[in-house]
Amino acid sequence: MTENKDITGEIHCVGSNGLDDEYYMKKAIELAHKAAGFNEVPIGCVIVCNGEIIGRGYNMRNSEKNALAHAEIMAINEANEAVGDWRLEGATTYVTLEPCPMCAGAILQARISRIVIGAMNKKSGSVGTIVNLLNNDEFNHQVDITYDVCADECATLLSDFFRKLRGK
Ligand code: ZN
Repeated sequence: MTENKDITGEIHCVGSNGLDDEYYMKKAIELAHKAAGFNEVPIGCVIVCNGEIIGRGYNMRNSEKNALAHAEIMAINEANEAVGDWRLEGATTYVTLEPCPMCAGAILQARISRIVIGAMNKKSGSVGTIVNLLNNDEFNHQVDITYDVCADECATLLSDFFRKLRGK
């Protein structure tokens, strides 16, 4: 069970407690499918606060011709707007693929309390595979990490996408 501590004493929102991890990961997977519909690498992300999804994102890097258009960045943008604050303390992020350094950095900057990860990312994973930016005591914020939620489904989504791409 995860405790959502807020060091400022202000509770902005409370993320999920782990019991609903699969439920929210499925929502992130739905968004990943949406990305695939745009011929984008299928990666999806949701941010949960008080049982509600306050941010949604999916990879749109090619469509938007924007190196920053990753699922997590889009979800953080939406969540920041939803709460009217850059801080997302207490919130939980669900992402189908282990974040890259940029997105792990953004999660840190947004003070997100917990992350739930589907598949691991051999090429740019920055939450344990290559580095772990979210669990380093030298930074001023650490994030609780849960791995391996719907991991097979998240990985299959990606491998199916790349197989189809090669087949064309
Ligand atoms: Zn990223």
